[in-house]
Amino acid sequence: MLSINKDQKRNKVIEKRLLTKKDFIEKIIEPHNKKDLSKMKISELRELYKITHIIDGNLKDMRGNCFSCLTSLRHDYTSKFDKNYCIDCL
Ligand SMILES: [Zn+2]
Repeated sequence: MLSINKDQKRNKVIEKRLLTKKDFIEKIIEPHNKKDLSKMKISELRELYKITHIIDGNLKDMRGNCFSCLTSLRHDYTSKFDKNYCIDCL
């Protein structure tokens, strides 16, 4: 009995990840927009819907934060390779 409770706790991991194009096509884009919007780039879709991440089942707009570690981006600490990441992550 005790071990079952322990396992349930361990499985309760908060999902926190960057949305992929597959997420947009499968979960976010309305069916009538799918034909047109599925041609767009993932960066354009994130801007259009103002959603970048899924955190604990909720869609979130994390623009202005590093897409990997989610700390807020500073001008002097933003990756030169991609403006959506901090120096530590990219
Ligand atoms: Zn980062």
